[in-house]
Amino acid sequence: FRVTIRPVTKSTVRYDGVLLHFQDITHLREAEEMRRDFVANVSHELRTPLTAILGFIETLRGPARNDAVAQERFLGIMEDEARRMNRMIQDLLSLSRVEGQERMRPQETVDLADVLSGVVASLKPGAEETGNQLQIDGEGGPLPVTGDADQLTQVFLNLTENALKYGGGGRPVILRASRTMGTGTMKGPVIRVDVIDRGDGIDPLHLPRLTERFYRVDTHRSRDMGGTGLGLAIVKHIVNRHRGRLRISSEPGQGSVFSVILPTS
Ligand code: ADP
Repeated sequence: FRVTIRPVTKSTVRYDGVLLHFQDITHLREAEEMRRDFVANVSHELRTPLTAILGFIETLRGPARNDAVAQERFLGIMEDEARRMNRMIQDLLSLSRVEGQERMRPQETVDLADVLSGVVASLKPGAEETGNQLQIDGEGGPLPVTGDADQLTQVFLNLTENALKYGGGGRPVILRASRTMGTGTMKGPVIRVDVIDRGDGIDPLHLPRLTERFYRVDTHRSRDMGGTGLGLAIVKHIVNRHRGRLRISSEPGQGSVFSVILPTS
């Protein structure tokens, strides 16, 4: 609590009493703490690749100066790290953009069927190159929602990339769309898209925190895969902006289903 005490006077010479003002500042404190944590996390996340790059520059100038094979390898690693920093900055910008827009409802009519086929078209060649399969399943026909096409594309790109990264391994990743009725806090007709993988799944312990910024189940694995730890935070904010829901269910050893439920237009 923040307590403010103010004298209450009727005339300039006499106190008539004091006004005690109690203000619950838990939310302000929490917001401040979150902001501080966020800045600390961003600094740490950006410093990790930067430290690696600086280390390799030193090696290239010193011990590896005359070793062409080592030079090529180190330059490759430096390039990967620089690209990861770049992706992280892009993701941070996307996140701050959607956060700023969260109260503004997007207005375009978007056909999710087009969005899903666009996502599959852009990821399929890369998936097949690494021995993964990607399929669209479910009802045909248009799947209209009111939204922002670029942001909805980003949602399904992030979820499908994750499904391929953490759950592919030769087992097909499926995007299944259906028209159904909302349940719980989502009333009325909705469109539901399940992004299904048959990977290692996620321990239920992690599920509540999965959409937090920089939260990863396995930091090394995420980094090795070029992840930024921001993908699901972006997904959650975009889905919120569309008044939708993100539901995650997963069974360790069996795979995961990330479901996006959006009101149909
Ligand atoms: P990252 O860039 O690390 O992939 P995300 O925010 O997209 O960040 O995901 C957060 C974490 O959630 C990942 O590091 C991974 O541990 C876990 N995760 C996300 N999708 C899946 C999935 N389909 N199967 C298993 N784990 C997943």
